[in-house]
Amino acid sequence: MSRFLSPALSTVTPYTPGEQPQDQQYIKLNTNESPYLPSPRVVAAVSEAEVEKLRLYSDPACAQLLRTAAAHFGLQPSQVMPGNGSDENLFFALRAFCDENHPLAFADITYGCYGVWCGLLHIPTHIIPLKEDFTLDPADYHGLHETIVIANPNAPTGLCLPRDAIEGILQSNPDSVVIVDEAYVDFGGESCVPLIDQYDNLLVVQTFSKSRQLAGARLGLAMGSAALIADLNRVKFSLNPYNINRLTLKAGQAALEDTAYFDKTRAAIMDTRAWTMQQLTDRGFTVLDSRANFVFASTERISGGILYKKLKENGILVRHFDAPRIENWLRITIGTPEQMQALMDAVDKILEV
Ligand SMILES: *Cc1c(COP(=O)(O)O)cnc(C)c1O
Repeated sequence: MSRFLSPALSTVTPYTPGEQPQDQQYIKLNTNESPYLPSPRVVAAVSEAEVEKLRLYSDPACAQLLRTAAAHFGLQPSQVMPGNGSDENLFFALRAFCDENHPLAFADITYGCYGVWCGLLHIPTHIIPLKEDFTLDPADYHGLHETIVIANPNAPTGLCLPRDAIEGILQSNPDSVVIVDEAYVDFGGESCVPLIDQYDNLLVVQTFSKSRQLAGARLGLAMGSAALIADLNRVKFSLNPYNINRLTLKAGQAALEDTAYFDKTRAAIMDTRAWTMQQLTDRGFTVLDSRANFVFASTERISGGILYKKLKENGILVRHFDAPRIENWLRITIGTPEQMQALMDAVDKILEV
């Protein structure tokens, strides 16, 4: 760091993203991307004509995408805001609803960025441990009177809360915003979007990175009451009004419109997930009941850190978190059936010696 860095920033520990090797020689099961190509409609939408329009700024209101998204989710356009990935929407929400005197409550084992953003924004954290079996007890979140963020399904566990559990949390915190991060909801979770008209303190965040094959385009949607969305826009228009680029606006719209492709690809992932869970269980792994496009697994037969390293030597990248309570676990993204067969072959090879 330079001698000019502000002391406040020097204490922030940035998030470490999963490895993104640029030579593509690995079977990549480490960052929960889709193994499938974007919809053919996306490829057609990102046309040469649109590339030529890159000389012009994108629409700061994202009006066309908003209309499509609102219709898709049964909301008004005023209840939706696109972001540059859901990371940006989550950051905007923390900037809007928390500060030095208004903490953020979240689980000890969940998406790592929540804590990082609190550091960057000087937001005190209220960290609530998951139970021994990694389930979340909704009662721990009742009557907190603090902004809350819950990843549902959670990462990296893949475990999911039913909608009425979230509803109880919303009801018992009527004066606080409850952010539900639904990055993985399309793989078998229960979305809270249908609760938006009932609860003015609910903000739902979804992403195109996991279930719509657009991780590299950077697109997410925040959905909530028109007043909450206006607050997020206040932050956006104070920072970066053109936060979504033209190609991503087109790609996102096309991906939303191709519901058949969306359903086909997420069904494929859920089938492959069931197969993968069974295969791992057969080999003596403990596997949590995942509703996401990854599984979280551990075994007494080998430590998580060593298995991660040996899989990498065998050309397979998975995610290992060197963090308390989960150092012995691996988070494995669901790829194609062929990729998961290769994973099992590598596991057998590693465990036999
Ligand atoms: C992947 C992920 C995000 C970030 O998604 P982007 O839209 O790619 O920024 C947010 N929350 C959780 C829980 C995630 O797993």
